[in-house]
Amino acid sequence: MKLYVIYGGKNAEHEVSVKSAFSILQHIYYDYYTVIPVYITREGNWFRGSEVKGRDSIQSKAELVDLKQKTPFSFNELIEEESVAFPVLHGPNGEDGTIQGLFETLDIPYVGSGVLASAIGMDKLISKSVFKEAGLSVLPYKEVKLRDWKVSRQDVCDALETYLDYPMYVKPVNQGSSVGITRVLNTQELIEAIELAFNYDYRIVVEKGVPVREIEVAILGNEDVHTSVPGELVKPKPFYAYEDKYLNQKVVREIPAKISGELTKKMRKMAADAFEAINGSGISRADFFLTEEGEVYINEVNTFPGFTSNSMYPKVWAKTGIPYADLIEEVIQLGLRRHKDKY
Ligand code: ATP
Ligand code: MG
Ligand code: MG
Ligand code: MG
Repeated sequence: MKLYVIYGGKNAEHEVSVKSAFSILQHIYYDYYTVIPVYITREGNWFRGSEVKGRDSIQSKAELVDLKQKTPFSFNELIEEESVAFPVLHGPNGEDGTIQGLFETLDIPYVGSGVLASAIGMDKLISKSVFKEAGLSVLPYKEVKLRDWKVSRQDVCDALETYLDYPMYVKPVNQGSSVGITRVLNTQELIEAIELAFNYDYRIVVEKGVPVREIEVAILGNEDVHTSVPGELVKPKPFYAYEDKYLNQKVVREIPAKISGELTKKMRKMAADAFEAINGSGISRADFFLTEEGEVYINEVNTFPGFTSNSMYPKVWAKTGIPYADLIEEVIQLGLRRHKDKY
């Protein structure tokens, strides 16, 4: 069977995707597959590398990106032979249902959630409605539409300030890795943050900012949903920004999170409920906020979370009893099974 590991992508999380793919390629069970790397450039062009023969074949991330000098990728290749696609992509054009739709139309199996779950998970407004419908608590929020912003910034800010107190979090609706997100403390910052977020999407969500501990639970499975021990992102400041996630080493991951058994149970249940509510399959990471008063809010479900051997998703699974290489094999099998069962 041919395994197409697809990474890069036309979005702001391109680099993170290359990191995830580099780690994954070092841990695949090569005896089972013919592994083909497929690189999507920032412009959205697809290139194919030659077969990766084993765990030590690719020495650096740069090699994965150099594929650009090689052969353009043809989708015919996917349908000609028995194959499975592994989209190692974060954010829009990868984690949002668009590429999943391509695989559906080609009728080939792929790793991770399907079209609907991917689209809901990436959409910070729709997902909140779905979570609420499932009985899960979310923080107060409000939508800002580009057309309203163009008509009157003043009206938009007034409406937000009437409904929410500072600090607020301003977020593009479809995005990840904290890209385009700002924590704001006053009207001036609010205006600038909204302008920034509109660079990434034409819909924005503004949320009430709360001092919280951030707890994440990993999910694995199709109909049979399994959850990991919770992990905590222990951070020195309120906002866990892109730089903290990938560039500096300020964030400590506490695994398992130091919370009560009761809270652990509650969050694992909430994670499974959220996953089922969006119709998830394969993998996901549910992100929670825990307040000083002990209230739990769901923030989001990431249908393709960071996947380097150092990321939260593999780390909480390792602690739960599934080592990284086995996890990779399991998510491939889940993708194959979903395709077969038409789940
Ligand atoms: P990723 O997909 O990488 O997990 P994201 O871009 O989807 O991230 P969020 O997880 O929604 O973005 O927010 C990024 C970070 O901003 C959170 O991890 C947290 O540090 C902070 N944050 C977001 N919303 C709130 C809020 N309402 N109250 C307090 N902190 C928040
Ligand atoms: Mg996210
Ligand atoms: Mg994400
Ligand atoms: Mg998050």
